[in-house]
Amino acid sequence: MHTSALVLFSGGQDSTTCLAHALQRYARVETIAFDYRQRHSVELDARLVVLREIRAQFPQWAPKLGQDHLLDLAVLGSVSETSLTRETAFRMESTGLPNTFVPGRNLLFLTLAAAVAYRRDLQVIVTGVCETDFSGYPDCRDDTMKAMQLALSLGMDKRFLIETPLMWIDKAATWAMAHDLGGQPLVDLVVEHTHTCYLGDRVHRHAWGYGCGECPACLLRAKGFAGYLTESTPA
Ligand code: ZN
Repeated sequence: MHTSALVLFSGGQDSTTCLAHALQRYARVETIAFDYRQRHSVELDARLVVLREIRAQFPQWAPKLGQDHLLDLAVLGSVSETSLTRETAFRMESTGLPNTFVPGRNLLFLTLAAAVAYRRDLQVIVTGVCETDFSGYPDCRDDTMKAMQLALSLGMDKRFLIETPLMWIDKAATWAMAHDLGGQPLVDLVVEHTHTCYLGDRVHRHAWGYGCGECPACLLRAKGFAGYLTESTPA
């Protein structure tokens, strides 16, 4: 029986939904994120606001929400040339992957998360990776997660479960999941306080939240929100 979890929590829509999922399910939940000198600190700022709002608005979850861990991962910026850490435009590479792909990033995140989970005696690692939408990042694949679960469990001689609540659902369903977990207050919290936009835009406010409205992350979020509204409105 699993009772404790560590959530990879970036302050975006997906990881906030995963955090709510974990708080609904486990008695003790901690959060972790990585500072790898992202182009914008907006997401890292957003996560503290989201944690504060969850504590304030969801008294049933607040007592379960424990320590937050922010690990310095500057080295990642120095090994990879990507548009997440450099001032370059977004484009598709000849590999078929967008240049937002940071090779090995999730593998590194999971390894460090497992080390923290080991130290904090947390059983489940929750991550918002998803095979359904958009990028096809190979380190978000279900097979990759299963392989990491095995490698980390063997390598640390501790049975970890890597849980991926969003793996097979699209963005519209992610909004619906937030609603199932925390009702309209959680949907409103996700809209207002989570951050997704690649350009770090917190100026332009849309029905689905803040963002430039044009980068791939904004387009995906907007499309998902529109789909969610359509599906959740009775015909
Ligand atoms: Zn954007």
